[in-house]
Amino acid sequence: MQIRIAKRAGFCMGVRRAVNLVLKALKDEKAPLYTYGPLIHNPQTLELLSQLGVKTLNKVEDEVPSGVCVIRAHGVPPKEKALLEKRHSLIDGTCPRVLKVQALASKAVREGKAVVIIGDKDHAEVRGILGFCEGKGYVVNSFQDVEKLPPLRNYVILSQTTQEEEILEILSQEILARYPEGEVINTICNATEVRQREVKRLCDKCEAIIVIGGKFSANTKRLAQIAQSEGKEVFLIESPEELPLEEITKYSSLGITAGASTPNWLINEVVDRIKEKISPLYSLLKIFTFLSFQEALAFFLLLVALLILNPSTLPQKILYLPIFALSFQFFQKNLLQWLNLEAYKFYYPGRERFLRQKKKLLFSLLGLVVILSLVSGFLYQPRILSLVIALIVLCFLLAKTPFSRLLDLIFMIGLLMYLYPLWNTIFLWQSLYVILSLFFLTLYKELVYIQSDGFLPKNFLSLALGAEERILLKYLRLVYLISLLPFLWLAYTYKTWHFLIFLWLIPVYEVLLYVIKRRPLGQILYLENLILLPPLAYLLIAIIWVYLL
Ligand code: SF4
Repeated sequence: MQIRIAKRAGFCMGVRRAVNLVLKALKDEKAPLYTYGPLIHNPQTLELLSQLGVKTLNKVEDEVPSGVCVIRAHGVPPKEKALLEKRHSLIDGTCPRVLKVQALASKAVREGKAVVIIGDKDHAEVRGILGFCEGKGYVVNSFQDVEKLPPLRNYVILSQTTQEEEILEILSQEILARYPEGEVINTICNATEVRQREVKRLCDKCEAIIVIGGKFSANTKRLAQIAQSEGKEVFLIESPEELPLEEITKYSSLGITAGASTPNWLINEVVDRIKEKISPLYSLLKIFTFLSFQEALAFFLLLVALLILNPSTLPQKILYLPIFALSFQFFQKNLLQWLNLEAYKFYYPGRERFLRQKKKLLFSLLGLVVILSLVSGFLYQPRILSLVIALIVLCFLLAKTPFSRLLDLIFMIGLLMYLYPLWNTIFLWQSLYVILSLFFLTLYKELVYIQSDGFLPKNFLSLALGAEERILLKYLRLVYLISLLPFLWLAYTYKTWHFLIFLWLIPVYEVLLYVIKRRPLGQILYLENLILLPPLAYLLIAIIWVYLL
């Protein structure tokens, strides 16, 4: 079965901004924390918010202690905002595009014009815009509503941001035919248009369409209606549990899209369920990834490449060192993820469920790798076991802090200490690359999780640095460029231009950045495994360096 996922689906800019504001307030420990109305039309996200202690205010008058209140992306009428402001300190999550529509309504009223809004009168956004019309606003959603309009002369027609183009066109023409002195301002948000256009494209290529989103979300329902009107079988689901797996596997091609309030982690979960059902290889990849094999392997490859670059001085028992590194890194990664298991629920629930279900497998593997790391470490150098003890203690002490993200680097530096007799200028510069490369991979992995649109725990390094996705991408480029400086320095110092072969790592890093920048949806397993690319490329270049140059 072919699965096609819409390139633009899930959170729109406004919803993501509102969710990020709540995330930031949670990080800053602002309490009590409220949202005015449900933050987004997605029951799963609302459930997570309530577990995080965020309460929903349904009315301004709700009797609750004063706190911090986030206004959702749909906005609120100005009077309600003023009342809320008297009781709580406000964080305005109104989408900038909705603010623009509110400003247009306000300007029209100031100029003495009436405002007709083409939209759903019960929708929070429309109620908010209506609040700016000072009694001169009318909501139209059907021909019957047009009939009920009073005679209009000087007026503007605005639209709900999630309105369908066709409906705006038909209804505004009908109004203008009756009252020709009006002006139409199309305020449909581009995000809505793009999603609706994309679902049509998916319909051209797929036999059935899955639409993920809240059943009360207007834009989700519209996506489903569009697919239905294109003659496709449509499955509108809120969660992966609602997937009719037997039924959908009958189709040879399946399109997946999601409403503007659907977080990426939910799309990941749905894609994961379907792929697991149809592909045994995918199930293997899932086990590999969820048990952090790729992270242990990336660490191992970097170390092996570093050792290969210094073959002449290596002692015979050096072979035990990579085995020790691989097994202990596997142990450390899994210990850390187990200590932070609860946090996965808020941005990667499938992983949390998997690890709980496979607890026995996980602990048996951990038992085995501990023995393997102790034996291999002992055979390499008994003193190295002190590193094992120190790192296990650090895992427990730092697990819930951003410093836990630096344990890979600390482990690598520790290992390099035990390679003391090998130290020379080239080795040290190469080591610097390896350490910075590990730092790059740590930040890259965080970015993959940031793109899940979930509520991340406080031990994320990027959160501690206050770096948003856009800034983090810049940091990533900066880190990899700095990591490659040692090779330029070595080429310059030793006048050996062969060192420039390591600059072939640049396209590898750029591929990684290109992929992650495009925010591919429902591909989290693949994105996680891409961390193997730079270490593999480094190892390959190291082999070429030693054996061919
Ligand atoms: S659909 Fe558009 S206007 Fe509405 S919240 Fe999203 S980005 Fe803002």
